[in-house]
Amino acid sequence: MKCPNCQSDKVRKNGHRREKQNYHCKKCDRQFIDQYTARGYSIKVKENCLKMYVNGLGFRAIERVSGVNHNTIIRWVKATADKLPNAPSVEEIPEITEIDELQTFVGKKK
Ligand SMILES: [Zn+2]
Repeated sequence: MKCPNCQSDKVRKNGHRREKQNYHCKKCDRQFIDQYTARGYSIKVKENCLKMYVNGLGFRAIERVSGVNHNTIIRWVKATADKLPNAPSVEEIPEITEIDELQTFVGKKK
């Protein structure tokens, strides 16, 4: 857990707010809610991934560019899809097995 303001890891838990863990940074004295994902990616990384998705990149392509696991990206997209007016609806996201097969196929062609 790092402070989103100063990137310090000198943060301590500071109770809960709306069922989310609230933190307090000892370094810059900021309070913030746990807005990092379980894997520790920052909001900025997440936004970049979602931007790439909106611009038509596949999950595997985003994974290669960002280093974020495609399953994590899919989770982000599903969680954020409502807020992205230009994003395809979640129903249009193919099953990950199909993506895997397609990527394997494309990979073999090289
Ligand atoms: Zn801080």
